[in-house]
Amino acid sequence: MKNTFRTKKKFGQHLLISKDVISKMVQFLEVKPEDVIVEIGVGTGNLTESILEENPKVLYGIEIDRTAHTLIEEKFKGKENFRLIKSDFFDVDFDDLLRGERVKFTGNLPYNVATNIMIKTVFFIDKIEFCLFMIQKEVAEKLIGKPRTKDYTFLSVFLQTFYSISYLMSVPARFFYPLPKVTSAIIKIVPKKGLKIDNPYQYKYFLSDLFQNRRKMLRSKLDSKTLEEAGISPQKRVEELSLEEILSLYEVMKSGHR
Ligand code: SAH
Repeated sequence: MKNTFRTKKKFGQHLLISKDVISKMVQFLEVKPEDVIVEIGVGTGNLTESILEENPKVLYGIEIDRTAHTLIEEKFKGKENFRLIKSDFFDVDFDDLLRGERVKFTGNLPYNVATNIMIKTVFFIDKIEFCLFMIQKEVAEKLIGKPRTKDYTFLSVFLQTFYSISYLMSVPARFFYPLPKVTSAIIKIVPKKGLKIDNPYQYKYFLSDLFQNRRKMLRSKLDSKTLEEAGISPQKRVEELSLEEILSLYEVMKSGHR
C-alpha cells in the first residue's frame, strides 16, 4: 500500500525517530501484562510499536489525523491488544472508554496542545496510575517550577496540586522529524494520594484568577480578612506563595469569606 502520510504542522507532528529515546520511554513506562495504556497521538506508530512489544493487556492509541489512520491500521493488523481511537483527544469520553480501569497515559504529545492535554487529565485523575509524556522542555520546567521563579505559574500550581512531578530527561531536537525548534523533555506525573480538592473546575478558576498579575501584592487582590484567616501576609506576592498557602487560601475562599 502506498504511504500517503505526510507530517503536518497543524497537528503538532514531530515524530520521535530515535530508537534509544523510544526505548527509554518504554522503560519508564514499566509495562506489565495487566496494564491498560493510553497513547495520545500515535502518528506513524513508532512509540506504539515498542510499547506493544512489551505486551500490555490493552493499548488504546488516540490519533486525530485521518491520513495516519490507514497506516496505523495496516501496521498493527492482527495485534489484538491494540485499539485505535480515531478521535481528537479532547472528544474522548474516558469514563466510557475506561470504565473501572486505572491506566497509564503516555505519548510524545503534540506540543501545541500539550499543556491543555495535561490540564484535562486532572478531570479524570481517578483513572490514572501515572502519565509519562514527552513535552517541550520549557513547559516541563514550568511543571516543576518553584515559588519566586519565573517558571512558577498557574500551570505549575495547578498540576503540582494534583500530581507529584518528575523531570526525567531532556531530549534534543535532533531526535525528532521534522526537526522541532525547541528541546524536549520526558516527564512523569503521578497522582498524589489523599487529594482534598473536590471541585477541580472551581479550583482551576480560582487559580487562574489568582495568577493574573502574579507579581502583585495580595492585598491588592484580596481583602485582609481572607488573608488573615488563611494566615498569609498581605505584603506577599502571588508568585511567592507556597502550594500549602495557596491551598489554605482556597479553603478560606471556598467557605465563602470573600
Ligand atoms: N507518537 C508519535 C507522534 C507524535 S507527534 C511519535 O512519537 O512518532 C503528535 C501526534 O499527535 C501526531 O500524530 C498528531 O497527529 C497527534 N495529535 C495532534 N493533536 C491531537 C489531538 N487533539 N488528539 C489526538 N491526537 C492528536
